[in-house]
Amino acid sequence: MSLAAGGAVADTGGMTLSLVMDGHAIEAPEGASLIQAWIAAGLPLTENVGCMGQGVCGACRVLVRRPGERIAAAALACETRAEAGMQVAFIDHFPARRPHAYDLDAMGDSWAALRQVDAVFPEAKHCRHCGGCDAACPKQIEVQKAVTLAVEGRVLAAGALFDHCVMCNLCVAACPEHIAPSHLGQFLRRMANSLTLRPGDLIERIRQIEDGAQAIDLDSPGSRP
Ligand code: SF4
Ligand code: SF4
Repeated sequence: MSLAAGGAVADTGGMTLSLVMDGHAIEAPEGASLIQAWIAAGLPLTENVGCMGQGVCGACRVLVRRPGERIAAAALACETRAEAGMQVAFIDHFPARRPHAYDLDAMGDSWAALRQVDAVFPEAKHCRHCGGCDAACPKQIEVQKAVTLAVEGRVLAAGALFDHCVMCNLCVAACPEHIAPSHLGQFLRRMANSLTLRPGDLIERIRQIEDGAQAIDLDSPGSRP
């Protein structure tokens, strides 16, 4: 058997492999992702649930150790295929130690960008370049470099490095200086979008809506969830 995207089971001749997930010895269909393997084993999926396999939410954080490996690596269960002999453990969510409050509308212009990074994320300049965030990131983002760029005031370049961040917050857990790199990344991306021109197609679409040229069909399927 194998599993198609979204969890549907397809019959491919009954090939399975054995692995351990959260202490449960299970048989997984060959080709299944870890999240699909968990579901196929009939185990309850009550935590670490988010976008269910779309790879965009970062909720299905796991630690994975393959046979012969000494050190476990962070991964996302939706993006990682089950392998024979794997040991897998789901990981809790790691919130930032404190909320980071800011008002993008009050920011003025980009001359204030560096001052804002300093004010909202003063811990960022204490980065000790240990590389823990890079090692923890399942999306292979250059987190340490992004933090360094942010401290230098290079907001656009730093924010761009976080483009594929899924907010799994593994870098938050890894950082000994409590910098909360993912939250810094979110702030940088918001600030960059706030201080630069919006995409032309978005501006045009909003203009069409405001002018009534984009009629909203309230009877279309899904328009009234
Ligand atoms: S930067 Fe942090 S929160 Fe974003 S994907 Fe990497 S580890 Fe997860
Ligand atoms: S884990 Fe924290 S201190 Fe270490 S390199 Fe990353 S941001 Fe810097």
